[in-house]
Amino acid sequence: MTDTKVYFLDGGSLVLDGFHIFWNRGPGGEVRFPSYSVLIDHPEGRFMIDTGYDYDHVMKVLPFEKPIQSKDQTMPGALKLIGLEPKDIDVVFNSHFHFDHCGGNKYFPDARKICHRLEVPQACNPAPFEHLGYSDLSFSVEAAEARGVTDQLLPNATRANTTFEGVEGDFELAKGVHMIYAPGHAVGNYAVMIELANRRPMMLVLDAAYTRRSLETLCQASFHIDPVKGIESMHKIRKYAEDHDAELFFSHDMESFETYQTGTRFYS
Ligand SMILES: [Zn+2]
Repeated sequence: MTDTKVYFLDGGSLVLDGFHIFWNRGPGGEVRFPSYSVLIDHPEGRFMIDTGYDYDHVMKVLPFEKPIQSKDQTMPGALKLIGLEPKDIDVVFNSHFHFDHCGGNKYFPDARKICHRLEVPQACNPAPFEHLGYSDLSFSVEAAEARGVTDQLLPNATRANTTFEGVEGDFELAKGVHMIYAPGHAVGNYAVMIELANRRPMMLVLDAAYTRRSLETLCQASFHIDPVKGIESMHKIRKYAEDHDAELFFSHDMESFETYQTGTRFYS
């Protein structure tokens, strides 16, 4: 799309064991990986895809993930780098509600919020093995109440300003911004393909495959609700990217992330 710009907002990094990142394959040992959000500055509005993790939440609930996040890597800090404030964002779309994808939602009380229709119910009542993934409920009064963690909410959070429009299947979020339903990692997980005027389309694989190696070897993370669907989603994304000659961008791949344009640099 003419005039569409895509910014990667660096949100710092976390650590997991290699056996979590590459489920049942490894190798084991600590792997530090990036966490980021994507701002699509589009003629139809400013769309934020995911909102990164909240440092204090991780230190309180999952300190073993050893967060490193500078002031410029917080959601308000990353926006400030490109001359914006949270109130400038029109729409927040969450690919799913794992803590490292929704920790900054609380800064956007006035934005429209959209996610798969099954993700809020899942955050309210996750599978037993999903509790740490869905541990930051500050994005939703409904979810925080359901899980008994209303202390996570900012004082300005209300049911009305944390209500999500539920979507399903593949659809266009804005012209040339294709939302690709990719369940498995989470029940309502999405990937995104963005068409741009001056380059190949960008395929944001997001958590359907953490790294390039994950997608190439069909090796998903150990965090998932349905690994069979997860494999189907990886096949779907590979075909979609191939059919559209899209460039692949990975959510938690430090080696790839170091080559991405971040800060004030953007894709258009
Ligand atoms: Zn995730």
